[in-house]
Amino acid sequence: MTAQPWHATVLTLYPEMFPGPLGVSLSGEALARGTWALEARDIREHGLGRHRAVDDTPAGGGAGMVLRCDVLGAAIDAAGEAGDTRPRLLMSPRGRPLTQARVRALSTGPGIVVVCGRFEGVDERVIAGRGLEEVSIGDYILSGGEIAALVLLDACIRLLPGVMGKVASGEEESFEAGTLEYPHYTRPRDWEGRAIPDVLTGGNHRAIAAWRRAESERLTRERRPDLLPPGKG
Ligand code: SAH
Repeated sequence: MTAQPWHATVLTLYPEMFPGPLGVSLSGEALARGTWALEARDIREHGLGRHRAVDDTPAGGGAGMVLRCDVLGAAIDAAGEAGDTRPRLLMSPRGRPLTQARVRALSTGPGIVVVCGRFEGVDERVIAGRGLEEVSIGDYILSGGEIAALVLLDACIRLLPGVMGKVASGEEESFEAGTLEYPHYTRPRDWEGRAIPDVLTGGNHRAIAAWRRAESERLTRERRPDLLPPGKG
């Protein structure tokens, strides 16, 4: 029996944006191999009337347009098969900020259904009505959820078994240990008067590990003290 691919369904007004950058390099090769599968579905297929309308003006007035809950609800209902246990996410600047821990949890599940917002966002009722988990990729506003969904998918896909050449390289990185990663160097040993730190070329593996741990802690304390456990900052 071959394993089921990790299955991503994206609901979007711009399905042509997928797989986009995920079609190249390691994620593209994994897609071609069937490690993961992607379905980009056009929300407009569920649009209303001759013009397949998907949005309308905001109740209460104001600028912009809002994605209709009936249209989005129908698109979500058509996206999953019976018994689909995949989490349903909505890319949203109001969501919980995405973390490596959430990415890891999603990558070990069956896949995701992800809704990409546009315009001013989506009618609030569909979020509760379809149990959407709102996910933000940072405190800034994008013009749509598609690039945010690509970010989320990329982060999940690289963790799928067999996607990254060397498994260990996923485990030492920033955030996995709750700290930022130590600095990297490669040849040449001297470049424009800057040398690789001696400890890294000395061959003492215990000393190297200690140096890397100390550098991780130093960088985290300097740049992201919020990542340190209470009392260590
Ligand atoms: N009016 C909204 C912004 C809408 S931006 C507000 O002020 O909160 C349009 C769409 O882009 C959103 O519905 C969402 O799907 C996506 N988006 C924008 N910024 C995002 C972010 N930081 N993280 C995730 N999705 C985002």
